[in-house]
Amino acid sequence: MGFLDELRAVVPVSEAPASADRSGATGDGPPLAIARPDTVDGVRTAVRLASAHGVPVVPRGAGTGLAGGAVAGRGELVLDVSGLDRIVEIDPVDAVAVVEPGVRTAALDRAAQEFGLRYAPDPASAKISTIGGNIATNAGGMRCVKYGVTRDAVLGLDVVLADGRLISTGRRTVKGVSGLDLTSLFVGAEGTLGVVVGATLRLRPLPARTLTAAAAYDSVAAAARACAELTRQRREPSLLELLDGATLEVIDRAQGTDLATRGRALVIAQADGPSADEEITAIAKVLAEEATGSEHAVDPESSERLLFARRMALPSIERFGRALIEDICVPRSRLAEAFEGVARIAAAHDVRIHTFAHAGDGNLHPIVSYDGPLTSEVHHAGDDLFSLALDLGGTVTGEHGIGLLKRNWLAREVGPDVLDVHTAIKTALDPRGILNPGKGF
Ligand SMILES: Cc1cc2nc3c(=O)[nH]c(=O)nc-3n(C[C@H](O)[C@H](O)[C@H](O)COP(=O)(O)OP(=O)(O)OC[C@H]3O[C@@H](n4cnc5c(N)ncnc54)[C@H](O)[C@@H]3O)c2cc1C
Repeated sequence: MGFLDELRAVVPVSEAPASADRSGATGDGPPLAIARPDTVDGVRTAVRLASAHGVPVVPRGAGTGLAGGAVAGRGELVLDVSGLDRIVEIDPVDAVAVVEPGVRTAALDRAAQEFGLRYAPDPASAKISTIGGNIATNAGGMRCVKYGVTRDAVLGLDVVLADGRLISTGRRTVKGVSGLDLTSLFVGAEGTLGVVVGATLRLRPLPARTLTAAAAYDSVAAAARACAELTRQRREPSLLELLDGATLEVIDRAQGTDLATRGRALVIAQADGPSADEEITAIAKVLAEEATGSEHAVDPESSERLLFARRMALPSIERFGRALIEDICVPRSRLAEAFEGVARIAAAHDVRIHTFAHAGDGNLHPIVSYDGPLTSEVHHAGDDLFSLALDLGGTVTGEHGIGLLKRNWLAREVGPDVLDVHTAIKTALDPRGILNPGKGF
């Protein structure tokens, strides 16, 4: 019996159409097949068989990734684990959730809310992405400025290794330091070290109040300085987003708003929890110093109106052209320099770049928009954005991952010795190199 026959005997398998994600990257041909196990044992068997036959395995959640991590090529098996989608347990006393990897991020957050809790990491794709994909990419989002990224919410994992063994890492206690931190090793590994089949996640209290402030500026540098000043003054926003003038214009065009009449940049901040009133007042005061106008919202509807602009940024840009979505991160003190650098790059390559940022994390999303095929100017602009991030002491990806698309840049960012360590770990865990080869590192 060949590999596919053996596999079909134990898990649902179908012909795989060309496998892509939301990055626009594609593989070098149609994958071998797509396996859709809906039990942990099914995943173990599929991986064990693939290992025995030397077939590369590409783990897949919802395929919303922006780095090409879930893209599978010729001869590879797509291992779609989105069918393992049970919320196994929510414990309101320990404030943990135990979930399977295919659970949608927003569904977990909704379920936690019934217990007065929340799952804090909130990628903008929360309605469509899976917890497994979020863990594999160490996804971020708007709340990360206060609550941390996905890694900060993961207490323990169940992982199928390349030979089919199942291990459990970490714990369900808030503290615990026994052994190496293997949980963190698998978070952000982009499916190259193991397949996540279960997770124990930390939940947070659902804040009773969330208050919002917004301020407009006559330059993006002034807006970025205001955000850095919040950090300097030890303020603790639960959200801190910055949109540049080009983004405001495109939102106006798509949504019929008049944001660009307020200024060349907009900062939106939120504070939550018991000290939300005091915190947002202090934040609004700092933001107002260089602002051309500001507002303050206390009720959820007005807050949502202010956040609408941010939520509509990417859909508005995508409405008028194709978008190369970048994801650089710089030290927060260098945010203004990063925005200035992005403007220089747009001018040098004569391309349109709209930038919005998780400013509280120094994480910029410069979106290079273009019509028709990807031109060399767009490519070069992307490369210059990565150089800019590294020159400013930052990183080429704040939250989307390395995937297929940024491998050369990872080498440049971390250097040969660190890459050797990556390779040694990969070889120890996956000696035949079957798990998501060619991705990550
Ligand atoms: C509109 C939009 C908005 C977005 N906003 C954000 C954002 O705010 N923040 C952010 O961080 N990202 C964002 N993303 C990117 C994307 O949604 C995230 O990277 C998300 O974590 C991917 O989840 P997924 O289930 O779609 O994973 P996939 O795309 O299927 O896979 C992503 C990677 O994880 C691996 N993988 C998937 N499941 C497993 C598993 N169970 N075990 C091991 N490896 C696995 C895959 O092999 C691949 O390398 C956005 C994407 C879109 C389209």
